Amino acid sequence: MKVEWTETENEKLRLGLVVYGLPYSQVADRMFRDTRGKAAVKAQARRLGLRSTVPSGPTHRWTREHQAKPPRLYVPPPPYAGSLRLTLADLEAHQCRYPDEDSDGPNHSFCGQPSHPDRPYCEHHCKIAYTEWPKQ
Ligand SMILES: [Zn+2]
Repeated sequence: MKVEWTETENEKLRLGLVVYGLPYSQVADRMFRDTRGKAAVKAQARRLGLRSTVPSGPTHRWTREHQAKPPRLYVPPPPYAGSLRLTLADLEAHQCRYPDEDSDGPNHSFCGQPSHPDRPYCEHHCKIAYTEWPKQ
């Protein structure tokens, strides 16, 4: 049985193939569920002069890749300049809290270099304190 395509259906077909870049099978599944099969979709596309752009289609709006976050920019840290030998009272929030190895007792001192944004230590001491970076 041959059922004529309506203008609305033609528009859906064009949308699925050209705009969304879906393959014929997915246009049939997603846009024409029970009304048109893959063969019918393909035949009608040919009549209209349309072509599925898969796999080189520029837009795949229904895939997950567009939801992926852009990668964070990596800014290399400045080279380690050595401990500033700050006391606990002098340390501020963004300064490295790694204790100096040769200090002890009430005059204990700390590195004090700018700390990694997500860590209590500077880049140099993170490498010492964390043998493996936690996965994010
Ligand atoms: Zn440090």
